[in-house]
Amino acid sequence: MDSFGRVATDLRVSLTDRCNLRCTYCMPAEGLEWMPRADMLTDGELNRLIRVAVCDLGVTNLRFTGGEPTLRKGIEGIIAAAAALTPRPRISMTTNAIGLSRRAAALKAAGLDRINVSLDTLRPDRFTELTRRDRLADVLDGLAAARTAGLDPVKVNTVLLRGVNDDEAVPLLRFCVANGYHLRFIEQMPLDAQHGWSRAEMVTAEQILTALRTGFELTPRPGARGAAPAERWLVDGGPADVGVIASVTRPFCGDCDRTRLTADGQLRSCLFSQTETDLREPLRAGASDAEIAGLWRGTMWAKLAGHAINEAGFAQPARPMSAIGG
Ligand code: SAM
Ligand code: SF4
Repeated sequence: MDSFGRVATDLRVSLTDRCNLRCTYCMPAEGLEWMPRADMLTDGELNRLIRVAVCDLGVTNLRFTGGEPTLRKGIEGIIAAAAALTPRPRISMTTNAIGLSRRAAALKAAGLDRINVSLDTLRPDRFTELTRRDRLADVLDGLAAARTAGLDPVKVNTVLLRGVNDDEAVPLLRFCVANGYHLRFIEQMPLDAQHGWSRAEMVTAEQILTALRTGFELTPRPGARGAAPAERWLVDGGPADVGVIASVTRPFCGDCDRTRLTADGQLRSCLFSQTETDLREPLRAGASDAEIAGLWRGTMWAKLAGHAINEAGFAQPARPMSAIGG
């Protein structure tokens, strides 16, 4: 729990900072200086921290992310270890879906419950421009394989960029509704390695909804939103829906239930934290589970009220999204 009464039950674990795409809004064409391997948590260290989070600290939802989580060797084993915990957490993953067509069934068998696939365009030329790799067909195959494997729900995450893919809101929603994927638009945030984000350029939730309403009738989805970041709308009366995650223009920090672990064992209470708590060194120095849990509790207690993107003096964190875990 933090000092504002929020309870962190959702743990985002970054399995690697490396990636096989180079999305322009995330990292530069040449990639980044990757974490030294020796700094990365081993599978055993990760499993132990996840056990402490689930069994001692009350985490009920786990999401594996990165970088590209499927680049982590042994991901099936890490998922299986998490799925064997009591109480069993719900397990999900955020991925670009490259190679997923070959791996979805094994990930499901290991214990993965659901999946979020990032897809910003349905046009091959644009995909290549946006991700700097010609892999759209792989992503579409990966999505289909996730559904066939029984991962449920299969969500699609889309970031719209002005003048790049902001004319695809309607086609993307049509595609997702037709295939049974749940689409979520995410406002672009100041978390890119190149520090290229601009408030004037970002496509806002309001603009996304206006674009969607040119093709669909949207009505607010009944039911409580809780700690879910997406505001959801029924599409043409339902049952399909669409979500918009308005992290910048309608922040939901007051209901945030997240805690984050980076691939090199640093704990963060927020995507935008300026400070981290090192769990790797205590772990390697022989700290007990109780000591690790104590460090974790202390970090979360100090969680700030909000991310302050909209306040004067906001500073982007030193780590980019790909190294924190998005
Ligand atoms: N590589 C995986 C993927 O792309 O799904 C997982 C990591 S990626 C950092 C997680 C999500 O963050 C993706 O949906 C991506 O589109 C999104 N993302 C990356 N940079 C972002 C930014 N500056 N603002 C908003 N979302 C961003
Ligand atoms: Fe890789 Fe995901 Fe960043 Fe794209 S958004 S470069 S897929 S980490």
